[in-house]
Amino acid sequence: MNPSSKPRIRSEKIRLELQHTFTIAGGSAAFKENVLVFYERDGLTGVGEASHVTVKEQTAERTLRAVERLIPLYKTVDPFAFADLREQARQIADATPPARAAIEMALMDWVGQKLNVPLYRLFGLNAGRAPSTSFTIGLDTPEVMQQKTREAGPYHVIKVKLGRPNDREIIKALRAVTDKPIRVDANEGWPDKETAIKKIEWLEKQNVEFVEQPLPRKMIDETGWLKERTPLPIVADESVFIASDIPAIAGAFSGINIKLMKAGGMLEALRMFQVAKAFNLDTMLGCMIETSIAITAGAQLQSLARWVDLDGNLLLSHDPFAGAVMKAGRWQPPDRPGLGVKPRVSNRR
Ligand code: MG
Repeated sequence: MNPSSKPRIRSEKIRLELQHTFTIAGGSAAFKENVLVFYERDGLTGVGEASHVTVKEQTAERTLRAVERLIPLYKTVDPFAFADLREQARQIADATPPARAAIEMALMDWVGQKLNVPLYRLFGLNAGRAPSTSFTIGLDTPEVMQQKTREAGPYHVIKVKLGRPNDREIIKALRAVTDKPIRVDANEGWPDKETAIKKIEWLEKQNVEFVEQPLPRKMIDETGWLKERTPLPIVADESVFIASDIPAIAGAFSGINIKLMKAGGMLEALRMFQVAKAFNLDTMLGCMIETSIAITAGAQLQSLARWVDLDGNLLLSHDPFAGAVMKAGRWQPPDRPGLGVKPRVSNRR
């Protein structure tokens, strides 16, 4: 199974237009710039994608520079010794997890193609277990959020971004148009535990499934105080990036949101699922705004998660790739080797 040729690795920036300007507690975006990485070898091309949080120092240019630094490592190692690469990659690009995620995703896509197995099979996962994905409603006026909720017809669960003074008005507006379960993501937007517990106690009565990151990421003890006072699961997102972050926050949260772009790739995400289980934490599989490449990479792992929140590609006005297929509100990973993604052939809208 040794490769017969040397690899060629390249990267490029792509611009993705959004259907609606996307707003969370920290900022807004009308378009996103992501980075694609291609790993070409033996006539096969693996593809990976980096996406970025909306309002942080992460940029496509920074990711491109980090990918350039990672390329020599990925060119020289045995591609089937992929489990060893994660730590070496961290030494080279620790502060740029999207770059590490993208180059590793391209390599894993190639490995799956070379071995002729879908990645979920390579990882020993059950493609038949597919939790319903939630569909995210970004912050907007209550009227626009109602309209977006109506447009979310095919999805069984709504995820709503809160973290502003009119949270209650927003939930009331959504409850006027839907009785689906609602997941709340405050994105660190509630300033203190007293404010948060008042919001949460009200949300308990609104058919809310859980509350994600109610308080700023460093307020771990205050979050633990909330957890003791509510039956609603409290899920960490901004407070947890990689597996080694989990022990310190495990007592304060009921679950964690695992994202490929925070973890720095599928392999660290797999490790996070195992560590979370060891700490008796529930798990959600989340995403950023990204194409079907990174969403399909997530869908390969979704059977490990209690909650799935893979909707980043659904927010694009045009997804240049096709991969996992949406059926009755659930993702089905492709039955093709590797990630199983391909360029979309349909006409651009
Ligand atoms: Mg979140």
